[in-house]
Amino acid sequence: MYAAVVVEVDAPGLRQPFTYRVPESLQDGLAPGACVVVPFGKQTAVGFVVALTDSTPAALAEDAIKDISARVAGDGASLPPAVLATARWMAQTYLTDLAQSVRCVIPNAQAAHVVRRVALAPGWEEALPETSTLSHRQVVLALSNLPGHAATETQLSNLLGGVRVSSPVQILRKKGVLEDRWTVEPPRAGARKVRALRLLVNWDAAEDAAVAREAKAPGQARLLRALAAAGGGPVPVAEILAGAESTPAAVKRLEADGLAQTETIEVRRRPFKFVSGAAVPPMLMGEQEAAVAEVRKRLDSRQANASLLYGVTGSGKTEVYLRSIAETRRRGRTALVLVPEIALTAQVVDSFRARIGDRVAVLHSGLSEGERRDEWQRIGRGEADVVVGARSAVFAPLENVGLIVVDEEHEASYKQDSPAPRYHARDVAVARARATGATVLLGSATPSVESFYKAESGEWGFLPLRERALSRPLPSVDVLDLRELYKRGQPGIFAPPLLDAISDRLAKKEQMILFLNRRGFAMFLLCRDCGFTTRCPHCDVSLTYHAGRKLIACHHCGYEQRAPDQCPKCSGQRLRPFGIGTEKVEEEVRRLFPEARTLRMDRDTTLRKDSHLKMLRTFRSGDADILIGTQMVAKGLDFPGVTLVGVISADTALNMPDFRAAERAFQLLTQVSGRAGRGRKPGHVLVQTFNPEHESVAAAANHDYETFYRREIVNRRELGYPPFTRLVNVIAQDEDGREAETRLRRLSYHLTGEEKDAFGPRFLGGAGGDELAVLGPAPCPLSRLRGRYRWHLLLKTTDMDKLRTRLKEAMSLLSATDRSGLSLDVDPMSLL
Ligand SMILES: [Zn+2]
Ligand SMILES: [Zn+2]
Repeated sequence: MYAAVVVEVDAPGLRQPFTYRVPESLQDGLAPGACVVVPFGKQTAVGFVVALTDSTPAALAEDAIKDISARVAGDGASLPPAVLATARWMAQTYLTDLAQSVRCVIPNAQAAHVVRRVALAPGWEEALPETSTLSHRQVVLALSNLPGHAATETQLSNLLGGVRVSSPVQILRKKGVLEDRWTVEPPRAGARKVRALRLLVNWDAAEDAAVAREAKAPGQARLLRALAAAGGGPVPVAEILAGAESTPAAVKRLEADGLAQTETIEVRRRPFKFVSGAAVPPMLMGEQEAAVAEVRKRLDSRQANASLLYGVTGSGKTEVYLRSIAETRRRGRTALVLVPEIALTAQVVDSFRARIGDRVAVLHSGLSEGERRDEWQRIGRGEADVVVGARSAVFAPLENVGLIVVDEEHEASYKQDSPAPRYHARDVAVARARATGATVLLGSATPSVESFYKAESGEWGFLPLRERALSRPLPSVDVLDLRELYKRGQPGIFAPPLLDAISDRLAKKEQMILFLNRRGFAMFLLCRDCGFTTRCPHCDVSLTYHAGRKLIACHHCGYEQRAPDQCPKCSGQRLRPFGIGTEKVEEEVRRLFPEARTLRMDRDTTLRKDSHLKMLRTFRSGDADILIGTQMVAKGLDFPGVTLVGVISADTALNMPDFRAAERAFQLLTQVSGRAGRGRKPGHVLVQTFNPEHESVAAAANHDYETFYRREIVNRRELGYPPFTRLVNVIAQDEDGREAETRLRRLSYHLTGEEKDAFGPRFLGGAGGDELAVLGPAPCPLSRLRGRYRWHLLLKTTDMDKLRTRLKEAMSLLSATDRSGLSLDVDPMSLL
């Protein structure tokens, strides 16, 4: 038996799986996906089996093939078949090597957590020579006294008073007395033992008891409900007391009444604290009911399928997710929930924990390595049947996945930019669903044009939620024309109607959000004498001025320098900030409304872990009046106290050089508007712009996605953009701009067979419907980044399979240097 193994070591030469022989002792139960240890050069490496065969690979001489050394045991060590199938799909779809795709789906640095122990081998007594030395017998004796008869060499050495054991171990291993055992283990964090509370009665009885106590002992009632919400516990006492705002006396009382008991448990690191939430599921509205019924039907079919859950903001998509998850679990299957960002993860996880309890695992990049490992292993052990996480959670080692939810499916953060494979988690989710016959639910109030088109054309199901919860009206939106204001002379950052609205809300003690999609103080420093602007020495962008830190910084490469006092070019004294950022907005608010309590949320103020969450909690608790921020504040947050949203400028988003600019602007404006009026009081939105007639602004002001979509889909059809074509963006980066361009020209030549001087689209084929347009090579809109010039070749096709074949062939004709200097982005989300 032979195995193709992808080793975890990532190096340019290691693009293909390696072949190893499977010794007889390891053949039993070995399947693709298994984690193994293999000899690799002079060392050993951890790898994953991707295929097994019976015959010797033709190209290899039998004696050149080495044996797999061992299998790695442990929870979550190996990849579920569905995840391996997904990796294969990715390699094909995104034109990467299987090895790269497998490395993308395995947990971070698995090798670093693989522990090697020596253990007494079965039948060691017979294998131990009569004549063995004292040191050999000491090793055997020490091991036989240990649980599992195994220890790492370091432990063994410590047990024997610090003597070196590697040589006796090696000899005993050769004689078959000892064997190696490899397991994957989480980094040691020292599990803590704490007191925890567990409910002794079922949900209904807890609710009855809570109702009975509500009047006289509200603390006990809250505690009962919080416990029930956590799935009955056990929940650490300290956490649940804080969450339910209750007292140790209430715990004693519940114990005395036989409703709950305390016990000691070991707690692992927990990424999020327990929070009590709305434990009682709200009633479903008509459309929600219909959506859940459809999901039920689809789950029962056990066929892979996908549906767009198109729900206006506040229509209760989350409730549909929760009910669909409950239906999935009822059928004995598991659910994966993808959410776009860390902040959202925290919020979503809070609400999921409140309803589902502790069987939720969380995976996202904000976790520490240890936390991530813990969650991964819990999933591997089957201790979680719902996984909530950001992009890469789509590869979670869940077995038997029946439902995959992709919340806010239009979010660009689902796309991995680098390294390859440049995958889109939404598309990967649909592919993974195929491997297990799962139902995919893609939710959005502002779906991507591609997804809405798929739902409209019947490829996907369509589940609309057009009513808002409690029939709350959508916020009213007014567009403020900045051109008018500028005509009337020097305006400030805020147009008069926005200023009035801010003072009005401050007087009424209501909360508001001011949104601007640019952090920092000013776009750049501009010399009023000679026109000089501060630009990044490494990238083709201006340096943003940060007044607080007296810096000018590049938001692309991180370059920073002290802000100059005078113009570096003409030495003029009038080097002034131009354009505004969130920092400037905050300063203006403080100047104009000194009594207002402000919070600013952007990448500069949320660098520390948890600072984001803290800020959101401060705002939610009402300890701030105005939240100022970038798109971080636009997305998914639910603040019932907010009655006003001010968009300082809609224009940054509109003017991006990308065919998705209109879509992005519409999405952003709709999302940020949706933050107003989520409580009892109606919301109002004021949008400042120089482009009031732009279709994205007008449609967003009317909360009218469908009108926006109808117009945009016509544009896309005319210009031949997705969903009518698919794109591959080939990018060349080089310190030498001409080299980058030439490399792309060579690729273009191999693709089309034509020398090509003129830029512009080129249509090929015809008869077979094989249509390919090759655009460029041209400089990328962001033409220089980190000191490297960027050129791209944009390929548009109506037949992706053919293009893939052709592109592979063309790439194979390039020299290795050329090939490694190109990166392929299939279905790019950004053409910058
Ligand atoms: Zn100057
Ligand atoms: Zn830069």
